[in-house]
Amino acid sequence: MIGVVANEAEHRVVVEFFELFKTPWEFHRPGAHYDILICSNSMVPKNNARLLFLYGAQRQAFEECRSIRTSSASRHDFLSFRGERIPIYGSCLLFNSPGNEVVIHERTKSAAAVSVASDDQMVVRLGFDLFQEVRYLLTQGQPAEFASIPTLDLHISLLRELIVSCEVPLIEILPAPAGHRFIACLTHDVDHPRVRYHKCDHTMFGFLYRALIGSVIDFCRGRRSLQQVATNWKAALSLPLVFAGIVKDFWNQLDQYLELERDLASTFFVIPTEGSPGVDSRGRTKAKRASRYALADIADDLKKLLSANREIAVHGIDAWRDSAKGRGERERVQKITGTTETGVRIHWLYFDSQAPLTLEKAGFSYDSTVGYNETIGYRAGTAQVFKHANVDSLLELPLHIMDTALFYPSYMNLSDDRARAAMLPLIENVTRFGGVLTINWHDRSLGPERLWGDFYVTLLNNLRARKPWFATAAQTVSWFRNRRETSFDSATHDGRNIRVQPANNRLASDTANVPPLVVRVHNRGGSTRDLRGRSAPFEDFTIDTCDSLLIAA
Ligand SMILES: [Zn+2]
Repeated sequence: MIGVVANEAEHRVVVEFFELFKTPWEFHRPGAHYDILICSNSMVPKNNARLLFLYGAQRQAFEECRSIRTSSASRHDFLSFRGERIPIYGSCLLFNSPGNEVVIHERTKSAAAVSVASDDQMVVRLGFDLFQEVRYLLTQGQPAEFASIPTLDLHISLLRELIVSCEVPLIEILPAPAGHRFIACLTHDVDHPRVRYHKCDHTMFGFLYRALIGSVIDFCRGRRSLQQVATNWKAALSLPLVFAGIVKDFWNQLDQYLELERDLASTFFVIPTEGSPGVDSRGRTKAKRASRYALADIADDLKKLLSANREIAVHGIDAWRDSAKGRGERERVQKITGTTETGVRIHWLYFDSQAPLTLEKAGFSYDSTVGYNETIGYRAGTAQVFKHANVDSLLELPLHIMDTALFYPSYMNLSDDRARAAMLPLIENVTRFGGVLTINWHDRSLGPERLWGDFYVTLLNNLRARKPWFATAAQTVSWFRNRRETSFDSATHDGRNIRVQPANNRLASDTANVPPLVVRVHNRGGSTRDLRGRSAPFEDFTIDTCDSLLIAA
């Protein structure tokens, strides 16, 4: 059991941190025994913990007592721990204590964390504010230049590795379902379901330019095959026939998606209001943002999706800033889906600090807007579903990979090979740390002039080979909700036994098709490190939604 000492102002973010690092913990109670004690910017209470973590960027008694000289480093520097780079967004305290380094501050090569061991206690002093870092990640989010680093997942991993290598028992519920290393969540924003809705508008002229001229430029740069150029020219020249309804609309790629994903799950975000551009965070209106289709126009598509067991969710216009409008957007889509719970992703990823509460008030059960337009990666520093600070039940499914970010000239502008290389670390991270990899491939991206279908197939095959749980956005969120609502109870007076108690049956119907959780127990029964010093082994237990599990730690 971990005890946490933190200022009142940090309590909410501490609670959220331990939903992501799901392990038995509580705020420190005087007189209680803890194997591990974490103190964040606080006085250290009298304790007999085997492992004591002292976080904080201000000088503390630890270095005063030992006369360790310190200095302060500026913001936005990297720490390095066992080959991993972790950006720190607040300030950082560096320690002049040779021989005791645990974490290195990259720019100065000084220690950003040191450890001191005595007979019965190991103290690790880390010169940064863990919970303020977590708060920054979950609210502000990382600047795009650090997008590729799963910073929050690395903070969890750092803490876990320090605990495990000190041979202290640790129980956690993994952020991945039983039988899988991670969850893959395939999503499609339905922005342009037909080219024929764009007769003579800026979208059509943009298409013609990119198909006829852009393709040729891309061919000269080695980014397009001759066959792709021919496909695009043919599509552009066929446009009058498409408008006349004589030949098939080449932006209608729904059947192709259903075919490519026939053995998988996926979620389609549809725009509920036609012709409404909404306003951005500065109150500006951009006519281009308005959708050119009504739900009635794509009624057949929606029927097809429902009968193929796809999830349909809301691609919101104003929902993020006006809960009454959000309610309207939600109800329009729910009328079609008939579901009681509906999620949302805002068109163009419009969002601000008030958006989570506004969306919750509008009755959405999850949001999946937190990501980047211009790059791929982790805005909130995590591949886990999380909860924003000011809401009760709305969960955030972070968005990680968007096709347009990879390929648009004004964004990453990558060739296929480079795009594959850029995505690979994200796939490897989620395989390693668990969580969900959320992908958004737009509705028309398989058709001319984008022709990003072959790339998408390669991505799907790469994912399939790793055997993740392919889940809809709602299933993913439901699985994480189930994990969040699972609790730990001390089953005996000495606090040695822990009962893992699954969520109440309130969720039983939602989670009927959701795979079970895995409880991992590290360092059970004391020292288990093998001779070569490999990380200590662990035992895994599977728990389903109705039984509790008793673990003797
Ligand atoms: Zn959109």
